[in-house]
Amino acid sequence: MSRSEELYARALRVAPGGVHSPVRAFKGVGGTPVFMTGGSQARLRDVDGREYLDFCMAFGPLILGHGNAQVREAVVAALDRGWSLGTAEPYSLELGEFICSRIPWVQNLRFVNSGTEAVMSALRVARGATGRSKILKFEGCYHGHADAMLLRAGSGLAEAALPDSAGLGAEAVRETVVAPLDDEAALAAVFAQHGKEIAAAIIEPLPANYGLLPQRQAFLETLARLTRQHGALLIFDEVISGFRVGFQGYCAVAGIEPDLVTYGKIIGGGFPVGAYGGRRELMQQVAPVGPVYQAGTLSANPVAMCAGLAALRQLADGSLYAQLEARGARLERALRGVPKLHVQRVGSVFWMCLGEVTQDVIRTPKQFPAGCAQRYASMYHPLLARGIYLAPSGFEVGFLSAAHSDADIDQLAEAVAATVAKL
Ligand SMILES: *Cc1c(COP(=O)(O)O)cnc(C)c1O
Repeated sequence: MSRSEELYARALRVAPGGVHSPVRAFKGVGGTPVFMTGGSQARLRDVDGREYLDFCMAFGPLILGHGNAQVREAVVAALDRGWSLGTAEPYSLELGEFICSRIPWVQNLRFVNSGTEAVMSALRVARGATGRSKILKFEGCYHGHADAMLLRAGSGLAEAALPDSAGLGAEAVRETVVAPLDDEAALAAVFAQHGKEIAAAIIEPLPANYGLLPQRQAFLETLARLTRQHGALLIFDEVISGFRVGFQGYCAVAGIEPDLVTYGKIIGGGFPVGAYGGRRELMQQVAPVGPVYQAGTLSANPVAMCAGLAALRQLADGSLYAQLEARGARLERALRGVPKLHVQRVGSVFWMCLGEVTQDVIRTPKQFPAGCAQRYASMYHPLLARGIYLAPSGFEVGFLSAAHSDADIDQLAEAVAATVAKL
């Protein structure tokens, strides 16, 4: 028995599935989750002393790699000063100014502790500001685990939204409208039917939680136009794409300024942070200024704020994004040579899909080739044995970090090619 197997047997007695977030449980790929003791740069080390090249990178936050020296230094200094104050303090001010001065559509922001919280709060602001109750979301987009966001559409607009989880409040289900991605006609139909009741449309402008599903510019522009025409707010959920595809996130790539935007993952430098922000008059709806209540005992935790600032300082001048784009392009080129493998990539985010793909770009979950998740699962453990750690689900994307070298990328591509050849 490996040490991971021993620990997993114990963990199963303590927590559901032995984990504290479901995808860590290896349900999607089978077998025992690998217990890691730590990470350094682009590598993870497990409890049995094995090393892995990490392409999961904590599901996105670690754009600078594990153990980034500047983040570490900022965290140690913050610890020495005191790690929870529960008062006004200068650290969230510095991080807030750093962001607001560089992202024009974030005129005002509020820090929270996770992406889920950021989304919940932004939705509350949208409802408070518009006096409307319905929220439009898109099939295949993940926005954290708030009740109203755990829904996808059935096939066809006439069908009721179907919950992805038990235990949701009936109202959350009733007040969420779900539309397909990549479909302007369906969008127009939704607004024709519900336009006056929709407080906000929320979308991942670069959907990256159910494969990587880049959207056409025209689709995003249509969404922006329809929300404006119907008096609904546009929320871009940039928890995964913010500070990832560029410092200003996908908003800048698409050239669309949303009313509200949510952040998480990278914004905390690897510590638990989320944020929501946007137009000043909307954010002024939030307590203590306005009537929309939102609070947090540990919000804007000084250690997390200093970690986030140290991370964003390294990203702000854009040079790391150029480096990440070059590494991403290198990986894409190498993987495109692998038969039966379809690759989608935007910057340092990539997704490998195994199966018969007819379109150039997969843009909706309906276009997933049958059996792609099972094929990913059969590739997973051989890759693990070769020292490659990917997210343990075929529907999760991969991430490159500033700590990955060209040699690391070539090693991934070679391992994937050799593994796929044997499937
Ligand atoms: C990860 C993610 C969330 C949820 O963030 P948590 O910090 O896990 O609560 C929300 N939206 C998007 C787009 C995400 O990628």
